[in-house]
Amino acid sequence: MTNPLFDTLFGAHVGRSDPFLHLPDGQTLTYDAFLQTAARLARLTARLGLTPGDRVAVQVAKSPDALALYAACAQAGLVFLPLNTAYTGAELAYFIEDSGAALVVCDTRDEAALAPLCATLGARLETLGADGAGSLMTKAAEEAPRFQTAARAYSDLAALLYTSGTTGRSKGAMLTQENLLTNALTLVEAWRFTADDVLLHALPIFHTHGLFVATNITLAAGGSMIFQPRFDLDAIFAALPRATTMMGVPTFYTRMLDDPRLTRAATEHMRLFVSGSAPLLAETHAAFAQRTGQAILERYGMTETGMNSSNPYEGARRAGTVGPPLPGVEVAITEAESGAPLPQGEIGQIEVRGPNVFAGYWNMPEKTAAELRENGFFQTGDLGRIDEAGYLHIVGRSKDLIISGGLNIYPKEIETLLDAQPGIRESAVIGVPHPDFGETVVALLVPEPGATPQIDAITAAARAELARFKMPREMILVDDLPRNAMGKVQKAQLRARYADLFTG
Ligand code: ATP
Ligand code: MG
Repeated sequence: MTNPLFDTLFGAHVGRSDPFLHLPDGQTLTYDAFLQTAARLARLTARLGLTPGDRVAVQVAKSPDALALYAACAQAGLVFLPLNTAYTGAELAYFIEDSGAALVVCDTRDEAALAPLCATLGARLETLGADGAGSLMTKAAEEAPRFQTAARAYSDLAALLYTSGTTGRSKGAMLTQENLLTNALTLVEAWRFTADDVLLHALPIFHTHGLFVATNITLAAGGSMIFQPRFDLDAIFAALPRATTMMGVPTFYTRMLDDPRLTRAATEHMRLFVSGSAPLLAETHAAFAQRTGQAILERYGMTETGMNSSNPYEGARRAGTVGPPLPGVEVAITEAESGAPLPQGEIGQIEVRGPNVFAGYWNMPEKTAAELRENGFFQTGDLGRIDEAGYLHIVGRSKDLIISGGLNIYPKEIETLLDAQPGIRESAVIGVPHPDFGETVVALLVPEPGATPQIDAITAAARAELARFKMPREMILVDDLPRNAMGKVQKAQLRARYADLFTG
C-alpha cells in the first residue's frame, strides 16, 4: 500500500454511490461525492505549496467539509491537527505556534480575529466553508476531483492531537498512521461494525472520541453516520429510529435519561450504545438498562493511545468498569515510581503498550522520555486495578489522588458512595490544603432537580462506610460541576476554588 491510512479508510470506498453521511436537512452525502471533494481539497493543498508532513491546524464548526479536509490531509500526507472550537486568543496562539502549522483553517467569522496571529507566526490562513468568497471549498470547486495519493508509511505522522488539558497545559500527541489504523480496525472487530451500521454522531470532531473512534470506525467498516452538529435531544430522538449505534460521553446518557422519550420502543432496534471519555456512573448504567433494556458498553482510552480497553460486545458489560484490554493492547498495573507490576487486584498506575500507543509528545522530548518507558509502556497517569474477571476499574487520575496525613484516598470510592445517596445527582471529591494533614477531603454535591438533600443523613451514611481519614471534612452543595466540552469534570478548577478553605 502506498498510504495505508488513506487507502484503508477512504480509498477503499471510491466510486460508492451509497451514503456516507446523513445530514440534518434530510440530504445525504455519498461516499463518492465526499471523496471527490476530498481529492479536490488535496489538490488544492498541493497547489498552495503544502508538502507531506506539514501540519494543518483546523478550528472549524463540525461539518461534512471539515471531514473532507481530514480525508484530504490523509490523501496529501499532511498532518491533521483539529482544534477545540472553544479555544480563543492565547490558547490558539499556543497551538499554532507550538505545532509550527503551515496552514491554519478557520470559519469565515473567525478570519479577521486570526489574521494578525497567523501573520506573526508565518502561517497561511484560509477559511473552509463555501460561505466565504475565497474559501478552500470555493477554490477547491475549481480543481479536478482527482489527486495522486501521497505515499506514506505506517510510521509516518497522520495527526497531531492535543490532549484535553484536564490536568494542565494540553500536550500535542503525535499519532502515526499505524496508531489510527490499528485502533479503527480493532474496534470494528470488537464492536462488530459492518457496512450496514448507521452511527448516530453528535460528538465534536476535534477530539479523539468523535474523530478517531466514531468516524474512523465508520470509515473502516464502510458504514454511514447520522451527522449532527451538536448534541440536541430533539435531534437525537428524531434520529434514533434510523440509527443502529450511538457513541457518547456520559452526559449524553444522563440527559437522555431525563427525557421521557427514552423508552424501550425508541431504542429497540439499536444494537449498541457506547460511552467513554469520562466515567459513566453505575446509576446511569443501571437506569439506562432499566428504561431501555440495553446495557451501555463503556470503554477507556485517551488522546495518546486511542482505545485501551472495552467491555465485551457479547458477554457481561459491567457497570463501573471499562472492561478487559482490547486485542493487541497490553495493560499493566504498576507501582508508579519503579514501574514494577503490582499483584492482581491492587490499585496502581495504569500503563499501556501496543501499536495504539503514540510516538511521543510534540516538541516535548523530556516529557516523552518521562512517560514512555524504555520497555514500551506508556504511563497513563490514571490509577486503576484489574479484577478477578480481568476487567479494568479506573479509580481516578494520579493527579486527583488525595494524600491526607500520609494516607492515600481515592476520590472515586467516596464519590460512588455519595452519588448513591437520596437526592444526590452527582458529586466530586477533591483534596484541598490542610495545615495538619497536608491535604484533606472536600465533597461537592449536586442535588437532583428539586431535591433538598439531608446533609446530616448523608454524613451518617458516609461515616458508616468510610474509614475516618477518608471522611469529607466539608460537604458543599453546588448547582453543577465545571465540565469541559467532553464532559470531563475540571477538578483542577475545583481545587483552585476551594484552596483556601482550611488555610485562608
Ligand atoms: P490532559 O491529558 O491534557 O490532562 P485528558 O487526559 O482529559 O487531558 P484526554 O486524552 O481527552 O485528555 O482524556 C483521556 C482521559 O480521560 C483518560 O486518561 C482518563 O482519565 C479519562 N477517561 C477516558 N475514558 C474514561 C472512562 N471510561 N472512565 C474514566 N475515565 C476515562
Ligand atoms: Mg491525559
